[in-house]
Amino acid sequence: MQKTLVLIKPSAIQRHLVGEVVSRFEKKGLQIVGFKMMNLSDETLQIHYAHLVTRPFFKRIKDSMQVTPIFALALKGLDAVEVVRKMSGETLGREAEPGTIRGDFSMSIQENIVHTSDSPDNARIELERFFNEDEIFEYQPLLFSHLYANDEF
Ligand code: ADP
Repeated sequence: MQKTLVLIKPSAIQRHLVGEVVSRFEKKGLQIVGFKMMNLSDETLQIHYAHLVTRPFFKRIKDSMQVTPIFALALKGLDAVEVVRKMSGETLGREAEPGTIRGDFSMSIQENIVHTSDSPDNARIELERFFNEDEIFEYQPLLFSHLYANDEF
């Protein structure tokens, strides 16, 4: 089973979409194994968005991620990284497919509701960035046999 990271961004918090976003992942069958509210420091954002630090809009992204605290969500499931990434949709909300989170709730490239890890390697790194070891939980989901066939995991 894979684990992946979602950050529920200030754009979702200000627009009261936190429950909606979490509900979509729950209904899909992903297991919540970590969930916390936190403020993001300049340093964390410089590391998290290292690939964008030299871009002219970096300060804007950083400011936008610090408007409110964010929620970090750790989700577990088969192929969770790809499933969650697909559910999130394209970066630019206006082009994201309807049915995806960004496609349904965002008109923007910056104010796009969620961050989702883009590869298994990055998911591991990002989960460690936002969660301590004892903030990720192991527990048996009761409906497991209704989520997967025996030979799927
Ligand atoms: P993704 O979040 O889809 O993985 P990126 O890693 O390319 O996309 O970008 C990280 C975040 O930076 C985006 O989700 C978005 O909030 C912001 N961003 C990316 N490109 C731009 C841009 N051209 N202008 C403003 N914000 C941007």
